[in-house]
Amino acid sequence: MKPRSLVLVTVDCLRADHVGFLGYSRPVTPFLDSLAAESFVVPNAIVGGVPTYYSFPAILASRYPLAMGRDLVGLVPDEVSLPSYLKQSGYMTASFVAANPYVSRKFGYGQAFDTFCDFLDQEMAAEATFYSKQSRTFRAVLNRSIERLSRNLGPVGTLYDELYFRYCQLAGPSVQSLDSLRPFPSADAIVDRALEWVGSVCPSPFFLWLHLMDPHAPYYPAEEALRAIGATAVSPSRARYLNSYWNRRDLGSNRLRSLRDAVIELYDGSIRWVDMQMARLVDTLKGLQVWDQSALVFTADHGEEFLEHGARFHGPWTMKEELIRVPLLVRVPGVFGREVSKKPFSHLDLAPTLLHALDLAVPREFQGRSDWGEWNRREGWERPAVVESTECINPDQPEDRLASRVLCIRDSRYKLILRFGCGQEQLFDLHSDPSEMAPLPADIEKPVRRRLLEYARRHIEGAQRIDSRKHRLRARSRELRIVLSKSAPAD
Ligand SMILES: [Zn+2]
Repeated sequence: MKPRSLVLVTVDCLRADHVGFLGYSRPVTPFLDSLAAESFVVPNAIVGGVPTYYSFPAILASRYPLAMGRDLVGLVPDEVSLPSYLKQSGYMTASFVAANPYVSRKFGYGQAFDTFCDFLDQEMAAEATFYSKQSRTFRAVLNRSIERLSRNLGPVGTLYDELYFRYCQLAGPSVQSLDSLRPFPSADAIVDRALEWVGSVCPSPFFLWLHLMDPHAPYYPAEEALRAIGATAVSPSRARYLNSYWNRRDLGSNRLRSLRDAVIELYDGSIRWVDMQMARLVDTLKGLQVWDQSALVFTADHGEEFLEHGARFHGPWTMKEELIRVPLLVRVPGVFGREVSKKPFSHLDLAPTLLHALDLAVPREFQGRSDWGEWNRREGWERPAVVESTECINPDQPEDRLASRVLCIRDSRYKLILRFGCGQEQLFDLHSDPSEMAPLPADIEKPVRRRLLEYARRHIEGAQRIDSRKHRLRARSRELRIVLSKSAPAD
């Protein structure tokens, strides 16, 4: 029997090596681990782009993020996507996104959903905006100016940085709980709203997409989740200190490293909270008697770095495994799941594979292809995964979107990273160097380098054949309409 409904859960910043079903030793995902036993588990799922704003076009519309040009971010107006296609096929559609502005109406994500809630209009935990509030005050601006000047003062400047940081910690508002510090709605709030919606539409077939932000920095997990992973008790002010310290730009890796484990413990606690809410989601779907007719997909938009290569968070251009490899679990009722091939599976192929599982045709606009047959036959596939990005860190600014391209070609063993801005080309052998500590010298593995470069060339040429002028114009006018509607005076 083919599933009648589809639930897609995406988690921000969740790396593949931090879930139990892909080998993580800390007990952060006991529920998902049990679900994995009856699911297809993809050990090497690779995103289509990094970070959020380059990842979702591949997940939702099976399209490379830069295929229509760098200036076009998100889904284009009326783009054929998983939700639009399912809606057209008679599904009720809804999305609940935990206040990530890059997955909002401005970037086209509201289209095709009967119900779309991005939680951006809600006043989130006031104290959680501690950093941004601080950064806007006159005193903060003055202090930052002094800080910049003090950089030229050698040890005195370093001392000033340290004193200023400690002063900010003492001067910040007192905090009562970890919950009050969190700048995003947590997974329980998103799941609550989603379940309310499912209750209102079942037994009609539905497509439900949830995007959870819990493991996104700053890391403020629910205390219950921290206890569940056996973490050291952490007070709200300590958690704020850890996050502030981790966010410092004036410290080198060595000093940051001293608190790395404590920060990762907070990150892991957030993952456990996601797992607990996934258990509640599935439990309620069972209660509503829709679980036996629903497929469920669990994945992430990209991972997170914890100084493995000197960086933190999820800056777009490093393309390291901790950023591009994500968990992917697909549970389809009546199908006995298993671990699929270890070949890299691109998110680009996810939507076609899911449509195949739902017994629906794949729209010709999709750039990916279905691997549903290969999954069921336990076969592999030969094409590498391609990851696209640019060095843009603020797509809200149209001029920033034109930052230099970064391209990654990842096959089962090798990974080629091309940074077009500085002309850098790096080839890694993931078998002999799984941590990607040293790119291969230019005269080693020349045939591999040539093969992956050729693949990159064909990929870029393919993108140039897409005529995106019409889409570009419509996408720009959509953004302008949204900006203008926000700046219009209230009646
Ligand atoms: Zn993200």
